[in-house]
Amino acid sequence: MSEQFDVIVIGGGPAGYHAAIRAAQLGLKTACIDAWAGKDGKQALGGTCLNVGCIPSKALLDSSRQFWNLTHGFEAHGISASSPRIDIGAMVGRKEKIVKQFTGGVAMLFKANKVTAYFGTGKLLKDRRVEISAPDGSRQTIAATNVIIATGSVPIELPFAKFDGKRIVDNAGALEFTGVPKRLGVIGAGVIGLELGSVWKRLGSDVTILEALPDFLAAADADIAKAAAREFARQGLRIELGAKLLKAEVKGSEVHLAYVGKDGEKSLVVDKLLVAVGRRAHTEGVLGDGTGVRLDERGRVVVDEHCWTGIEGVWAVGDCVRGPMLAHKGFEEGIAVAELIAGKAGHVSYDTIPWVIYTEPEVAWAGKTEKQLKDEGVPYRTGSFPFAAVGRAVAMNEPAGMVKVIAHAETDRILGVHMVGACVSELIAEAVVAMEFKGSAEDLARIIHAHPTLSEAVHEAAMAVDKRAIHKVN
Ligand code: NAD
Repeated sequence: MSEQFDVIVIGGGPAGYHAAIRAAQLGLKTACIDAWAGKDGKQALGGTCLNVGCIPSKALLDSSRQFWNLTHGFEAHGISASSPRIDIGAMVGRKEKIVKQFTGGVAMLFKANKVTAYFGTGKLLKDRRVEISAPDGSRQTIAATNVIIATGSVPIELPFAKFDGKRIVDNAGALEFTGVPKRLGVIGAGVIGLELGSVWKRLGSDVTILEALPDFLAAADADIAKAAAREFARQGLRIELGAKLLKAEVKGSEVHLAYVGKDGEKSLVVDKLLVAVGRRAHTEGVLGDGTGVRLDERGRVVVDEHCWTGIEGVWAVGDCVRGPMLAHKGFEEGIAVAELIAGKAGHVSYDTIPWVIYTEPEVAWAGKTEKQLKDEGVPYRTGSFPFAAVGRAVAMNEPAGMVKVIAHAETDRILGVHMVGACVSELIAEAVVAMEFKGSAEDLARIIHAHPTLSEAVHEAAMAVDKRAIHKVN
């Protein structure tokens, strides 16, 4: 007889482990199956986010930022150092320690909450049974009243630039370079391309990013994208738009690229190539015969707005379903589904999911862009405020960027908040709270913001909607 659970979660990444912990908190007998192995061959829970995504990239972003400040930023403060150098081994070692701390943290939380962790690959069979294939080849089947599929996503591979793990790499490979590549090529000026391109640029690489689309950061508000592009160019990050890669060939220790740019066919030679052209749902091999669960044309599990697959007791959350591939979107879906299973009112606010790009300056937004509102015919007013006029930002030597608030022209309800600047990954939370509470620009404008803080840019941008910002000419 298969061991019986209330809930089985397939996948222990951000969406899956949140679902498992919340289900266990609610008194449900819960199992979570995950196949990710760390460098020691042991189970490493936390999926892409903890192992090769959010957390390790932020560790390297911070190390490289410190180095960049040492070589470029501290001078303005009157601080100088002779012959600064970076030990890449130590930097990567620090990153690995952080990863281990957090993957181990999930295992500890599972234990504390009595979630049973299975190490292996899970496959959903008929009648909510799940087959687990362990790394040693052994198999067993367990069963549950509810199964949550949370199998995440994998990098998209270009057929003419296949990953070899050495010269042509994905995001995981770009976190593992043993030295600073002299010339780094990046395909895709999306979130990963910009973040990891920035890491290696700050450490001394000559970085060229090729982006197929004609517009930079097309998903962001145009003013923010423009301001970000200006800052990245100032840092020497070369971004070529409208550049379509034709092929990438490894020749000895180099990668030779052929692409079509704005002015015709071009070539580029680099030492390493990062391909970051998006991710796709990881659902191959996850569904056995006769489960009834459907996949869409992009291989994503089809679900309704409550992450229900339409099959009794089968749910799916995170990157393997529709919606943005963001860890925090997965967190909330995992929690909501666990609560729905327990008979509670689980809910995800898809309209206020914050986006953050951890470049320098950072980019963050929530809600609609001006272009979206124009396309939808919604009347709006905007107010913006530059960090160059915020005392704290200038004192920190971080004057780049701005905050822009978009509010409904008649009701004043906040429809979108867009930011580029220092620490905006943190500032965006205020905008999300205001939008969740259906706040108006006037609400934000009348809330006291501590002085001197970076948050004053949000305050003044909200005041600027009504043309009454104090520290700029409206
Ligand atoms: P992305 O979708 O953010 O960007 C991919 C970029 O590659 C796009 O701009 C696209 O136009 C371009 N592109 C596609 N095909 C191309 C080609 N053949 N040649 C040149 N350019 C091409 O994807 P990503 O950066 O790979 O990130 C993957 C996912 O991971 C995203 O969904 C992202 O949201 C998520 N992620 C989020 C964060 C964060 O929240 N900070 C960090 C890393 C990854």
